[in-house]
Amino acid sequence: MADPAATAPDAWVVELCSRLIAFDTTNLGGGDGNGERDAAEFVATELAWNGLTPIVLERAPRRTNVLARVPGEDRSLPALLVHAHLDVVPAVATDWKVPPFAGEVRDGYVWGRGAVDMKDMCAMVLSVLRSWSSRGLRPRRDIVVAFVADEEDDSWYGADWLVAEHAELFDGCAAAIGESGGYTFGVPGAPLYPIGTAERGTMHLRLTANGRAGHGSRPNSENAVVALVETLARIAAHRWPVRLTPAVAAYLAGAAHALGEPADLSDPSAVDGLVARLGRAGVLAAGTVRNSVTPTGLSAGGKVNVIPSSASALLDVRTLPGSSAEVLSTVDSFLAPGVRREFVVHREAVSAPLDSPWFHAMAAALRAEDPSAVVLPYCLGGGTDAKAFAALGIDCYGFAPLRLPLDPDEYDYRAMAHGVDERVPIDGLCFGARVLDRFLRTA
Ligand SMILES: [Zn+2]
Repeated sequence: MADPAATAPDAWVVELCSRLIAFDTTNLGGGDGNGERDAAEFVATELAWNGLTPIVLERAPRRTNVLARVPGEDRSLPALLVHAHLDVVPAVATDWKVPPFAGEVRDGYVWGRGAVDMKDMCAMVLSVLRSWSSRGLRPRRDIVVAFVADEEDDSWYGADWLVAEHAELFDGCAAAIGESGGYTFGVPGAPLYPIGTAERGTMHLRLTANGRAGHGSRPNSENAVVALVETLARIAAHRWPVRLTPAVAAYLAGAAHALGEPADLSDPSAVDGLVARLGRAGVLAAGTVRNSVTPTGLSAGGKVNVIPSSASALLDVRTLPGSSAEVLSTVDSFLAPGVRREFVVHREAVSAPLDSPWFHAMAAALRAEDPSAVVLPYCLGGGTDAKAFAALGIDCYGFAPLRLPLDPDEYDYRAMAHGVDERVPIDGLCFGARVLDRFLRTA
C-alpha cells in the first residue's frame, strides 16, 4: 500500500519550491534576463513524469512557457485554468541574508527570490499533480495548467502572446486562478483570506503639449511647458471621488464585520475613515476605493534660453471596473489647449462574479483547512496576467493560497514580493498545497 504521507498533496511542495527558486529566472524587462527555459524544462519533466503531455512554447529563445491539460472525470464540464509565472524580479544578493537563488530551507521558511511571487504557487500545483498521479486521482473537470514567462515585465513573451497566438490551449476554460489572493491577511483574531475577484485596469497615458518655439527672452502665450504644467497641476489637485465597486464594498463590509467595526457604506464620505479604522486590514482596500491618476514622467526642453516646441508627461492611470470612460473624460477636461493624450498601455479592469460556484469552492477549501478563515473578495490595485486571460472571456480569480502569520512583526507578506529576504513559511506552503488539492479536485 502507498505511504499516505508520501502521497499527500503537500509531500513535495517544499522541495519543489526550493528547486524552482534555484533556477535564476530574473526578468530585467525589455526582453533582457536569463529567461525561463531552465525552470520550464524542469516543470515539463515533472508534468511528463505525472503522465501529462507538456506543451513547451517560446516566442523568443529561452522565454519559455509550459502548459498541460489534466483530463477531468467529466470532460463535458467547463475547464479551469491555473496560471503561474516562472519569471522573477531581480535580487541584489549583497542586500540579502541568504543567497537569493539558492532555495535555502531554514528556520521554518523556504528562502529566495520567487518564494511568494510566485514559485510557491508553481510548487504547490506540481506537488498536487504528483500526489494525484501517485494516488491515481483525477480532477472533476479538465484543468489547464500554464507556467508562463514574462509576467514581471509586460507578458509579451508570456500570457499576452499565448492568448493572441495559442488561444486554443484555453478552449473550454470558464474560470482561472492565479496570483494575489487566498493568503492570510488581517490582524490577530481576524484571519482574513482575501480572494481576488477584480483588478483595476492599467492605462499608461502620454500627454503631449505642442506650442510655439522661441527664444527664452521673448515669452509667448503658447509655451508648451506652461500648458503641460498647468494640465498636470489640475490633475494633481483633483480629488478622485470614492467609487465603491462590488468587490471593494464586500471586502470592506466583511472586514469591518470581522473586526467589530461599524460600517456605513452608503455614505461615500465615510469610506476613507472606515479604511483607516480597519488598520492593517484597511490597507488592502485603500488603493481601490477610487480611481487614481499619477503623473510619473516629465520631459521638456534642454536649453534654458529656448522655449521648446513640445513637452510631454506620463500618467499612470488605474481604473476600477466600469469606470475607464469616466476617468478619461475627467482627464480630458483638465487638458490645456494644445495638449493631447495618447495610450502607451491600455488594459481594461478585470472583474469576476463574487457569488459564483468558483468563489464558494475556494472559500470552502480554505475553511476546510482553517475553520477560522474569514474569506472575502477583494480588488487588486495593480495587475497580473489575469488581464490577458480575462480577454478570452474567462472569469479570473486571484487564488494562490498560503497560511501566513498574522503578526506583521513576525512576517510581513506585503514586504516579501519583490522585497529583500523574500521567504515563505513551510507550514503555510503545505497548507496552500492542501487547499489547492481540495479546490482543484472538487471545483
Ligand atoms: Zn507575481
